[in-house]
Amino acid sequence: MLDVHGLRKVYEGSGRRTEAVRDLTFSVEAGELVCLVGPSGCGKTTLLKCVGGLLAPTAGEVRLAGRRVEGPPPGMAFVFQEYGRSLFPWMRVGQNVELPLKQKKLGRERRRELVADALESVGLADAAGAYPWQLSGGMQQRVAIARALAYEPEVLLMDEPFAAVDAQTRADLEDLVRRLWRERGITILFVTHDIDEAVYLGERVIVLSASPTVVQEQLKVDLPAERDQVHTRVSPRFAELRTRVYEQIQAAKRGGAGKAVQ
Ligand code: ADP
Ligand code: MG
Repeated sequence: MLDVHGLRKVYEGSGRRTEAVRDLTFSVEAGELVCLVGPSGCGKTTLLKCVGGLLAPTAGEVRLAGRRVEGPPPGMAFVFQEYGRSLFPWMRVGQNVELPLKQKKLGRERRRELVADALESVGLADAAGAYPWQLSGGMQQRVAIARALAYEPEVLLMDEPFAAVDAQTRADLEDLVRRLWRERGITILFVTHDIDEAVYLGERVIVLSASPTVVQEQLKVDLPAERDQVHTRVSPRFAELRTRVYEQIQAAKRGGAGKAVQ
């Protein structure tokens, strides 16, 4: 579904050069939920922007269903970290969710159905008439997720979407993402700096090195599909997986390939 090949991104401007991403190659199958984890500043946002066609790579390419991404492709939706800035404060929740659908040339009835269904899916069926600033941070991020869902994307890109909410809200939102993924069969690429979150959410974890970024390791998460915050996180396998990711990230910081632990 998604192929990233030899992706490199160098920022240039005012005499400075930053090689944010050195050489990234990985793919994501249709219907997969893949987490990318790496330290802050390692180029995760840069990578997602290139994948989403918001930023042109310096070298390499991104393909969505075989077609080269050269601008925001119609089948992709984004959920960003800064929910506060991603919703329009002067529009009601329902209007925010409906906005991207207007590009899709759908009839008014169909748009209404999609908006109602998406809000229902994220547990905000009653909030359509509210303004975003009347909602808590966690609820605002639910609205952003509903907006992405209503758009019916093939691929959903999420950039540290829960980094700014409290722990309980975050746990609920993680479970929401897994539920939506299972119900809707969307392909999800989820970026986080949080190792536990990556292991809890992902079917596969791609570990990124520090900037300039390369893929350090890919790890299949063989936890059961049915996960829950209490039992999954204390299971021995969860502990093994998180330890392994942690060691890979430490190894990446030292610049070595790291010794894999079984
Ligand atoms: P992450 O999301 O993993 O924290 P980013 O992709 O935001 O990392 O940034 C990766 C590197 O690229 C950092 O060193 C950052 O300072 C640099 N960078 C990000 N955006 C720009 C930009 N627009 N211009 C120059 N450098 C940038
Ligand atoms: Mg970032």
